[in-house]
Amino acid sequence: WQTLSDRINTVAPSATLAVDSKAKAMKAAGLDVIGFGAGEPNFPTPANVVKAAADACLDPKNYKYTPTPGLPELREAIAAKVLRDSGYEVNADQVVVTNGGKQAVYESFQILLNDGDEVIIPAPYWTSYPEAVKIAGGVPVEVFAGADVNFEPSLEALEAARTEHTKAIIVNSPNNPTGAVWKPETVEAIGRWAVEHHIWVISDEIYEHLNYDDVHTTYIGAAVPECRRQLLVLNGVAKTYAMPGWRVGWMVAPLEVAKAATKLQGHMTSNVANISQRAALAAVAGPLDEVHEMRKAFDARRRAIVTALNDIEGVNCPTPTGAFYAFADITALLGKPLGPKGTVSDTSADFAAALLDEAHVAAVPGEAFGAPGYLRFSYALADEDLAEGMRRFKEWAN
Ligand code: PLP
Repeated sequence: WQTLSDRINTVAPSATLAVDSKAKAMKAAGLDVIGFGAGEPNFPTPANVVKAAADACLDPKNYKYTPTPGLPELREAIAAKVLRDSGYEVNADQVVVTNGGKQAVYESFQILLNDGDEVIIPAPYWTSYPEAVKIAGGVPVEVFAGADVNFEPSLEALEAARTEHTKAIIVNSPNNPTGAVWKPETVEAIGRWAVEHHIWVISDEIYEHLNYDDVHTTYIGAAVPECRRQLLVLNGVAKTYAMPGWRVGWMVAPLEVAKAATKLQGHMTSNVANISQRAALAAVAGPLDEVHEMRKAFDARRRAIVTALNDIEGVNCPTPTGAFYAFADITALLGKPLGPKGTVSDTSADFAAALLDEAHVAAVPGEAFGAPGYLRFSYALADEDLAEGMRRFKEWAN
């Protein structure tokens, strides 16, 4: 007689975490699994950041709660970082430090949406967006753009999806899962369109520093200054500084939104762990040297994985220019007997399951990102694992 809420029953579990935990469980059971599933850098957190945290642990002042929106020094450092990287000024009181970028995503929709409000989500999208929209009572409206157009939504398609209920749009470039970095014209056009139609823009910039081939992140708040009054920028230390487990993210938003996020967070999680904020401060206020080193390593792997994937008959992988994901079209392999058992997969979800079970290679099926027929490969893993995983995939599929 006791039931769960309709709200939670409409939410799908995180598919990316599910693949990762299945791969980890197989590994724990002694199987030699190569994991392309995880969205986390395989580098250690930079030593100066770890040292800042270790020092903070020894100082009793850090055993207390911090203000709900974060340590003042960290909020200042984030505001300074916005000026350094995005080229425009924000005040520290517009910054709210959150438990990872994920909490900033969650809070955005809780703050902005009434029941039935629509959020345009360009697909392929990061798996948590639609679920966070639904939890907030909103309606996700997907607008798909394929590999042929670099996974960039056209303004015509966005306009066709717009209704009187459209409240917000998500921009995520560099993108998870595709690794696409949207052209400046695309980002700018979306910003102008949002201003014209009074649509909130949620710009998830968590992969901002992972760009390759001379492609650069276009910051929508810089490209279209008028949209800043309706812009929520989401970010965090997880990807840039190899700090996924420290759980520090943030939102930079108009003051009214930042205050609302603080109110919500005050009842939900209070502040982010004090020690983690001290670590994040060392990261954000420090130089980007280590990030550039990581980017070089990612770049070499990016080239290796794209070559290896396209070398598998039936796989088509466009070259990504951002983040650390390759997004491969595997539709030509569906419906065909593959591997020693001749397993036939009709969907990319079945395909990913068979690849994991039979070849011990973990990748996330496109269904998790609103893009059936694709598989996402994270190349945030060791070079030799990458090579071995690709060898297994090819041997299994061809
Ligand atoms: N946004 C995007 C696009 C992501 O890929 C991720 C992590 O995978 C996040 C936000 C959240 O990151 P975190 O909560 O670890 O800071």
